Amino acid sequence: MSTRRHFIRNISLSTLGAYTLMDWKPASALSFFNSDAVLKVALLGLGGYASRVAEAIQQCQRVKITGLISGTPEKLKQWGEKYKVPEKNRYNYQNFDAIKNNPDIDAVYVITPNALHHDQVIRSAKAGKHVICEKPMAISAKEGREMIEACKKAGKQLLVGYRMHFEPLTLEVVRMRSAGELGAIRFFQGLCGFRIGDPTQWRLNKALAGGGSLMDIGIYALNGSRYMVGEEPVWVTAQETKTDPVKFKEGVDETITFQLGFPSGAEASCLSTYNMNNLDRFFLNGDKGFAELQPAAGYGPIRGKTNKGPLDIKNPLPQQTIQMDEMAAILLDNKKPIVPVDGEEALKDLVLIEAIYKAVKTGGQVKLNAER
Ligand code: NAD
Repeated sequence: MSTRRHFIRNISLSTLGAYTLMDWKPASALSFFNSDAVLKVALLGLGGYASRVAEAIQQCQRVKITGLISGTPEKLKQWGEKYKVPEKNRYNYQNFDAIKNNPDIDAVYVITPNALHHDQVIRSAKAGKHVICEKPMAISAKEGREMIEACKKAGKQLLVGYRMHFEPLTLEVVRMRSAGELGAIRFFQGLCGFRIGDPTQWRLNKALAGGGSLMDIGIYALNGSRYMVGEEPVWVTAQETKTDPVKFKEGVDETITFQLGFPSGAEASCLSTYNMNNLDRFFLNGDKGFAELQPAAGYGPIRGKTNKGPLDIKNPLPQQTIQMDEMAAILLDNKKPIVPVDGEEALKDLVLIEAIYKAVKTGGQVKLNAER
């Protein structure tokens, strides 16, 4: 039995045993009642994270890289040769609308700086392709709504690269919480950050990044608070500190602490920063128990424990391999993920990010509508 088959069996028989058959399983395990069709993906933007995704796809059972889109001709050649993508399926940012006539491509995975997602997603949808877009989906809620609308209009699905939504330990905590094993949830803490280097990079340029640490890394704590608590926040408060206003210019947050209030009365307290290393921890507290993930949102391995002991789930696959196989099942078989990864889900984070920035400015509590 292959390592992957072992993993699938271990996951389905032990840790996730309480799920029904239709619930969480790697996409390939569904093949006996769903198609084995392969999702043909074009990668748009061949930078650091795209390299990781491309390598992870090599271990996928249902995803193949069939197209490449980049502004750098040498990268198109190099990547084309490495991943066996023929020249006719290589495009640049000017001519990629022509994928419309290319049956070798089912979906485009947008992995460029945040501010570029909006136009690139809309162009991909208009070209008749499903779109997977990296987080944050966009740099404003307005843009996010336009992207959702464009994909709807084109009859194509929009997914966002929330890899933790498929991560086995994360899903086990979500399962425990929704099964009531932790009791009524009272508190979540999410700490996410790293010390950022090169001051000239796009992540520190407001026009390309849309903000600072919150857009890039704090979004994991924000998004995590929603799927860990299992509710949508109704208010936020937030505070910003900046030690280096030259490196972190106006509109680029270095460190933000934020608090969220949920309808049940549960609260979350989160830290987002570009100025601390070794900061990657989720803690969920309920009346009957607790769950802790540390690291919680890094590339893995994720480690965790609960009041019952360590979360002993082995995962030999890269998170992005699981994510992409699961996304193939969503796009090709209409599989419903346990934690959503669609545009509407990502829009909720964008609305909250705007509320957090507003709370920093006003110093007061920002209330949120239940309907967003
Ligand atoms: P990167 O800088 O390594 O790569 C960005 C790519 O976009 C490069 O190939 C660059 O050439 C290209 N690009 C196109 N137009 C550009 C422009 N005008 N300015 C700058 N670059 C341009 O960045 P990255 O780390 O790969 O991040 C890309 C996206 O992926 C971001 O949205 C980021 O938030 C997301 N990301 C997600 C994860 C995750 O775990 N899900 C991890 C890292 C990055």
